[in-house]
Amino acid sequence: MKQLNFGNVTIDRVQDWYGALLPLNVFYPTFDQAILDSQRDWLEPHFLPAKGAPNEEMLHLSLHTFVVRSGKNVILVDTCVGNHKKRSTVPDWIDYSSPYIEKLAAAGVTPEQVTHVMCTHLHFDHVGWNTKLENGKWVPTFPNARYIFDRDEFEGWAKNPDDHGVDGSYMDSVVPVYEAGKADLVASDFALDDTVWLEPSRGHSPGHVCINIKGQKGQALMTGDSFHHPIQVAYPEWHSAFCMDLAASTNSRKKIIDKLCDKDIWMLAAHFNTPTAAHVVSNGARAKLKV
Ligand SMILES: [Zn+2]
Repeated sequence: MKQLNFGNVTIDRVQDWYGALLPLNVFYPTFDQAILDSQRDWLEPHFLPAKGAPNEEMLHLSLHTFVVRSGKNVILVDTCVGNHKKRSTVPDWIDYSSPYIEKLAAAGVTPEQVTHVMCTHLHFDHVGWNTKLENGKWVPTFPNARYIFDRDEFEGWAKNPDDHGVDGSYMDSVVPVYEAGKADLVASDFALDDTVWLEPSRGHSPGHVCINIKGQKGQALMTGDSFHHPIQVAYPEWHSAFCMDLAASTNSRKKIIDKLCDKDIWMLAAHFNTPTAAHVVSNGARAKLKV
């Protein structure tokens, strides 16, 4: 994804992982191959391997952080898996190690420069770099940043810190930030300023939010895990196997599509493959992505 430049606001994407996660028909309980095939004309080549390609049947995911620069603020949205985290589910992410900090540096950002970290939700693949290991302790990676968490999300996981959805990350990537006094627990419509504000999109997790970014010359919506794969832009009724409230997650997707469809607002999803940034446009009675 090339930098989005809205004049007074820019957005960059720093990718930390890309790969095949799970079979699509496991990830989506209502998966239908004929429906997927009917959308190949716009899904290929960015969002779906060609028929017969290796791992064709798998959900391919990107893990990335969006870097938003607006005025004096340098904001990271979602912080991927992190290094040395003891996860148990995705083989690649168990004790994962990557040059994430170096990749941020290549995008012109040092940890000290980050003013805010925002998480669309607190699943383990969105909070990892919130903390780093220092002398055997998890400490905030970005020493000068406020960490913005939706209060419902933070409190929801506090009741279930051992849940599969966080896989240990609540304790090693969220609680240490809170205990260091660097977390701000906010309402689902919190506004940092007139360029960055939250919008609730419940269903995937207890307090999932989207993040609006608006500059003088453009606008984007960061949709987190409301969508994992672009097929859900056409079929918002397909929920992932990891959504907490299925009806709410479908409603959130439909609301987001209504907001974005045929409008000049970029959709920036947490896991869509590069070029990632796309517009939602109508496609008969449904919608599709235009990159
Ligand atoms: Zn995710």
